Amino acid sequence: MSKLSDITTIREVLQRHGFQFSKSLGQNFLINPSVCPRMAEESGLREESGVIEVGPGIGVLTCELAQRACKVVAIELDRRLLPVLHETLEEYHNVTIINEDVLKVDLKALIQREFPGMPVSVCANLPYYITSPVIMRLLEERLPVDSITVMVQKEAADRLCAQPGKRESGAISVAVRYYAQPEILFKVSRGSFLPAPNVDSAVIRLHVRKQPAVSVENERFFFSVVKAAFGQRRKTVANSLCAGLSIPKEVVGQALKQADVPATARAEQLTLEQFAAVSRELDGAQTSKTL
Ligand code: SAM
Repeated sequence: MSKLSDITTIREVLQRHGFQFSKSLGQNFLINPSVCPRMAEESGLREESGVIEVGPGIGVLTCELAQRACKVVAIELDRRLLPVLHETLEEYHNVTIINEDVLKVDLKALIQREFPGMPVSVCANLPYYITSPVIMRLLEERLPVDSITVMVQKEAADRLCAQPGKRESGAISVAVRYYAQPEILFKVSRGSFLPAPNVDSAVIRLHVRKQPAVSVENERFFFSVVKAAFGQRRKTVANSLCAGLSIPKEVVGQALKQADVPATARAEQLTLEQFAAVSRELDGAQTSKTL
């Protein structure tokens, strides 16, 4: 279907299908015709690529992906959009729609089934209420995905891509940087959506690392340390770790010293390497106490 990103076409299609937007499903559809081509272009797709899209809506981004990639699998939870997508994507024979909740789909099996031997990317205008769970799921499951290019709320983009030392840095910034190299590609104003949300958005791209950025023996414990460190943002990392992990102050103090972290440091000032070192020291101290 031509001119799908045209506001008149979008309104007409939605009206004809009697579609009402669902706020709870994060349905803000793109109506700015320049955004989807740019997203698809900057997502690094190749002709031989397989792409997973989360929440195709009426298919504005899906069309752009289908024109550039070998195959697109779009996961849409809202059953009411299926007849719409059937119509708008009629001319694309390389698109498969899966009517499921992205948080419940077995993505590993999907990739093996749909994209055997192909480079795989994710590209989506994410429903805002599940931004972090979707991104963390894609990263934590170590899926064979090269890059994740997604539109998220501007504030979420700042947090997800924050460098150590920045005010926006939090546990999720550290987790993202552990698995990927994040960057903000471009901002998108709230007026680019129908209905317009109350906040602006940004498109971010995560280049998924083949190996995590730092070597960590006990990954589970590493992430508990990161979470505890950011648990009480106004406190020093020493106090936050004592409280969050229930580890005596002297043990934490000693671990920070060994890891070359000043006792007065706050969580957002620590680099990934420092978090890894603190976690290693604390894990070692815990283990030797148990023995
Ligand atoms: N891609 C379209 C666009 O850019 O115009 C729509 C994006 S809209 C922000 C989010 C889409 O995700 C909606 O179509 C919504 O129905 C869908 N969605 C919401 N929750 C979902 C879930 N758990 N799994 C899959 N799709 C979901």
